[in-house]
Amino acid sequence: MERVYNFSPGPAVLPLSVLEEAQRDLLALPGTGISILEISHRSKSFQSIIDTAEANLRKLMNIPDNFRVMFLQGGASLQFGMLPMNLLNGKSADYIVTGTWSKKAMGEAKKIGSINCVWNGSETNFNHLPTTEELQAKLDPDAAYVYYTSNETIQGVQFPTEPEVGRPLVCDASSEFLYKPIDWSKYGCVYACAQKNCGPAGVTIVVMRDDFVAASPDNLVNILSYKTMSENGSMLNTPPCFAIYIFKLVTDWMLNTVGGVDKMYECNQQKAALLYDVIDRSNGFYLGHAEKNCRSLMNVPFKMATSDLDKQFLADAAAEGLVSLGGHRSVGGFRASIYNAMPLEGVQKLAAFMEDFMKKNG
Ligand SMILES: *Cc1c(COP(=O)(O)O)cnc(C)c1O
Repeated sequence: MERVYNFSPGPAVLPLSVLEEAQRDLLALPGTGISILEISHRSKSFQSIIDTAEANLRKLMNIPDNFRVMFLQGGASLQFGMLPMNLLNGKSADYIVTGTWSKKAMGEAKKIGSINCVWNGSETNFNHLPTTEELQAKLDPDAAYVYYTSNETIQGVQFPTEPEVGRPLVCDASSEFLYKPIDWSKYGCVYACAQKNCGPAGVTIVVMRDDFVAASPDNLVNILSYKTMSENGSMLNTPPCFAIYIFKLVTDWMLNTVGGVDKMYECNQQKAALLYDVIDRSNGFYLGHAEKNCRSLMNVPFKMATSDLDKQFLADAAAEGLVSLGGHRSVGGFRASIYNAMPLEGVQKLAAFMEDFMKKNG
């Protein structure tokens, strides 16, 4: 069967060359005669895969030596609980709520300890970001950390630069990780589940500064402790071998085919501009959700003035091989997720389709 252009928010499109390589080596990893699905995580071959995954990531993202890299399970959602369990130590934390995912993260953190909501954009259905003044007015100088979600996958709201809080940030970067370089001096932790922008479901990449890792209390269950997981090289127990392997292939692809994160960022800007341009020139036929200064380069939610033509739009798009464009129920309309692995041609085709649909129905 032919592959289509898959605009799913997650699990999402992977680079074709990655899938082909995984397919080629599925029965026997080079030099082993054993499938990645069968191999011991204690084998030399697997150790080399996880080491290369980390080395690739460090090189791509220029991660300083005082940060640890962990490959964990439980999705991004486990981090919602694990972060406060490890980092609060009797203090409170500041949360910036800019969409569904930061709201969920705050809800979970509240079960663990005392949480201060610095800003909440729910009144306008999360279509914009706080100003620096709004943020700074509510920050607690004694908070253990300041938490935010750099790209809200559902509302398509993305921080163009880090919020200015003057203290180390903890960031859920699930739906944008590896989309552009990161200024690590601003962070205590950046984490991301892989299945949006850098791999399949099953692994969450946590990059955490040494002093944050050291904060884990000793009475935590081992598997919930950053300190223990990090000391054991993410292999306290069986790690998600296959997901880590695919993440390694994705980082190989970014280094060798894309040519690095700066190149990726240029391409991501170009792709997003194609869609926002159609929306902006449509005279209100298409309406974007987020305000212009925080529109996401990764997830582009938009709708039409009424929902009468929604089904038609999705059916016509699918007929052209453009799929998974339905919007989240909380926002309505459509959402085009155009992650790193979505080729420029896929976005060009969608932009042309949107123009064409407007001409026929506008
Ligand atoms: C998808 C997503 C999550 C949840 O990820 P799971 O791995 O399903 O727990 C959290 N945060 C963001 C920003 C996401 O896009």
